[in-house]
Parts: sequence; structure tokens; C-alpha cells
Amino acid sequence: MPDPDTSPPFTASSDRLRRARELAARAGIDALLVSPGADLHYLTGYRAAPLERLTCLVLPVEGRPFLLVPALEEPAAQTSPAAGLDLEIVSWQETQDPYALAATRLPAVATVGVDNRMWAEKAMAFQAALPGSRQVLAGPVLSELRMRKSPQEVRALRQAGGAIDRVHARMAEWLRVGRTEREIGRDIAEAILAEGHVQVDFVIVGSGPNSASPHHELSDRVVRAGDPVVVDIGGTTAAGYCSDSTRCYVLGEPPAEYRRLYEVLLRAQRAQTDAVRPGITAEELDAIGRDVITTAGYGPQFLHRTGHGIGLETHEEPYIVAGSARPLEPGMAFSVEPGIYLAGRYGARIEDIVVCTSDGGERLNRTSRDLTVLPG
Ligand code: ZN
Ligand code: ZN
Repeated sequence: MPDPDTSPPFTASSDRLRRARELAARAGIDALLVSPGADLHYLTGYRAAPLERLTCLVLPVEGRPFLLVPALEEPAAQTSPAAGLDLEIVSWQETQDPYALAATRLPAVATVGVDNRMWAEKAMAFQAALPGSRQVLAGPVLSELRMRKSPQEVRALRQAGGAIDRVHARMAEWLRVGRTEREIGRDIAEAILAEGHVQVDFVIVGSGPNSASPHHELSDRVVRAGDPVVVDIGGTTAAGYCSDSTRCYVLGEPPAEYRRLYEVLLRAQRAQTDAVRPGITAEELDAIGRDVITTAGYGPQFLHRTGHGIGLETHEEPYIVAGSARPLEPGMAFSVEPGIYLAGRYGARIEDIVVCTSDGGERLNRTSRDLTVLPG
């Protein structure tokens, strides 16, 4: 029996196909067209690379679904979890038109849902092959499924959270005065792979004034004594699930105001993670942290939304943002990552992934949220 903690969480894929069809029918969609990416991975377990040749799951509301693959990809598709599902794998030869092939196999369709990440050239070729049909985005239907994680998916996210925590726990090995952000970032990337990920998704090391730029790219800036450093890192595990966690470090004694700013931020982030429970809306959760930060006078310096859903992609539904009245439900997983950024001086962000449970929230990142002081 496979180790339950490493087996891919795809036991329910046929069920996922069925539920996707039900939701599509309810949305007035006659067929879903899903090209390589997280949606295809979620529905079939098939992790295909997005290439110029068409690979596409065609999921009609009526009739048998089929997975269209280029002939040279067929062996890969046949050995993927997709082969175990109630769908037909149809391969097309180099000289065939796969869009015409899809059209001949489909029943009459008035409305097709194309996955949100489908390349424009593919969506337009489908439009030409299915004249008279109307295209809508499949995202609203598929995100309804993907944003509610199964217990297996929560377990996979918990495992990813533990993996990125182990990297943060080792930060003192790399984060030292005299080294450049790029050197530090390279070591972190190696550790992300060594600590249970198969892919490095991003490494942000923002030191000194660079800590005030939320999505700072690694630079050749040399880290100095007294620098605050924002480290925001994430990767993808073998099961396909993503990690994402931010912690703040300081090398020696930080500027006095930085400590004050950090205390405010920590209070806001704690209040938000403590407030996660079913029924609270995304905008209410956003406001809880924003109010703390605004009261302390840093409102305009909290430049972004509170967080984003996470799963097979680092950023997905639900977004924790003002204007979203979506109530949280058990199984929803998202980041809680308020930040305060004083342009040109310094900034801070604290980020945990939290899963909404039946009676509250579970934080998947467990390293200390305090400002970590390393030797200056
Ligand atoms: Zn992050
Ligand atoms: Zn994030």
C-alpha cells in the first residue's frame, strides 16, 4: 500500500469529472475544453506541458468525455492517471487538424467553456472549428470545485507547508551580512528542492530598502548590518501542491521604527489568522487586518489584498480581498499575508497558509512569526 502521505491526492478524479459536468450544465455550458495546466491536472491527474500541439480534455455535458492528445504524447497520457478514468484517449496525427477532429466528435454545442489559461491561438482555433458556438470562461465552474479542498488535498498542502517551514528554519545558514541577495536566494532555492519540493516557484529576498517592494526580484545588493530582510518563498511538491510562506529577518539591531511597524503587522496577521472560520466573508477577513494597520497609521502602506487561495497553483480562488462577499467554507485554503511597506526605507510581510476548518482555521506554517534576529 502506498504511503498515504506521498500518494497523489487523485483518488476522486472520476468524481471530479462528474461534478464538473454537473456544474457546467447548471451554468448553461454544453462542453468544457480544458488544455494543459492546473485545471487538467485537477480533473484527470494528467500533468501535460502546454505546447503548440493541442492537448485538450473535451468534456461534454451529454456524451462521453475524451482527451485529445498528439500521437507522440499518447504514451505519456496512457500511463497517466487519466487512463484510469471514464474517458477515451484520442490521439491525432501530425497531418490531422485536431480542432476539426474535436468538432466532429462533439454533439451540437451552443456554449463552450474554455479553461482560463488556454492559449489564445487554441481558443481561436476552437472558435473557427465550432462556428456558431459561443465561448465563455470555464474558470468560474472549475474554481468552484478547486477552491474546496478534499481531506487528501489538505494533507498535501499541509505537507507542502511543512516543507517550506523547514527552509525558513534553516535561514541562518545563508542569510548573513556581506552576501548578496542573489547568493542567498540561490542557496534558498537549493534548500527548497532539498526539503521536499520538486520545483522552486519563487524566491524573494528583499533586503534593506528592497524589503519595501512586495515582489522584489533578487538583486546584487549586499546585505548589511541592521538590514530588515523579507523572505517570501514557495515551491511545488511531488503531489503537485504549492507552498508559500513569508518571514521577516533582521541582521543585528533594526531601526527603532521597524520594531514598532513589525509589532503592528504581527498583531494584524494574528487577528486575521485567529478570525478564520466558516461563514466569515473574504472582505471581512481582509478588513480585520487592515483596520489594525490603519488605526496604527500605516493604512496607505498596506498596498495589497490580504491573500490568495492556494492549491495546484500558488494563486487561485478564493482571493481574500475587499469587495469579495464570498463566505469562507471548510476546505478553503488561502494565504493570510498583510504587509506594511515604507517606500525607499523598509517593509515587512508575514504570510501563513490557512485552511478553513469546520470550527475555525488551521495554520499550515508553524515557524515563529516573531521578527527573527540573526547575527549582524
Ligand atoms: Zn508569498
Ligand atoms: Zn502568497
